[in-house]
Amino acid sequence: MKKESIKHERQREEMVQQQIAARGITDAKVLATFRKVPRHLFVSEALRDQAYGDYPLPIGEQQTISQPYIVAEMTQALELNNDDRVLEIGTGSGYQAAILAEIVYRVYTVERIRTLYVQARNLLDKLHYHSIVMRCSDGTSGWRDEGPFDAIIVTAGAPDVPEKLLDQLVEGGRMVVPVGNQHSQELIKLTKDKSGIHKSNLGGCRFVKLIGAHGWKESR
Ligand code: SAH
Repeated sequence: MKKESIKHERQREEMVQQQIAARGITDAKVLATFRKVPRHLFVSEALRDQAYGDYPLPIGEQQTISQPYIVAEMTQALELNNDDRVLEIGTGSGYQAAILAEIVYRVYTVERIRTLYVQARNLLDKLHYHSIVMRCSDGTSGWRDEGPFDAIIVTAGAPDVPEKLLDQLVEGGRMVVPVGNQHSQELIKLTKDKSGIHKSNLGGCRFVKLIGAHGWKESR
């Protein structure tokens, strides 16, 4: 193995132990995935040395790749199974989509900014993530033709739970979405069963804005 890849593997192991497992993520599938996906390839070359740090990083277009722990927390909260079909709103760098694709059968991901969509698409193709289906559009209405989904993850902060997305969740489905104002949000988990929707609060978080018909209006 090349020296560089040994270094990144060691950094991933440290990230898993010190940031993810140490803070209570226990799902073995989730931990294994974070040991595997090359996070440094999802940021620009200039930021590669910081890729495994305990913080979000800029990915261009004023957007960010989330802090590793947040990606892990959201992934674990989705309670994923091998044969699940998952919808992600906010592809960004494509890192969260790659993490999901390591665990589930198929990932559908939507990104509204074309340059990020193209960049993520090229990278995920190069890394052979063929089970990720991508679209460039406003994802706040979901992806009706491909739904319903076993799990839905929104990786941008919404003013309210986007109701259209709940309609595209199967019975038994799980959804996580950051909800709040533009400066801070609470990570909300919703589960759907025969009796309806159940909500729990996983705690504070900070995401860029979900912009669209059922999110924030675009500001100039
Ligand atoms: N999951 C990403 C993090 C993305 S940051 C990763 O792993 O890197 C949030 C992303 O959501 C940004 O790229 C932003 O452009 C996108 N976004 C915001 N509103 C959106 C919308 N309505 N539909 C689709 N994508 C949206």
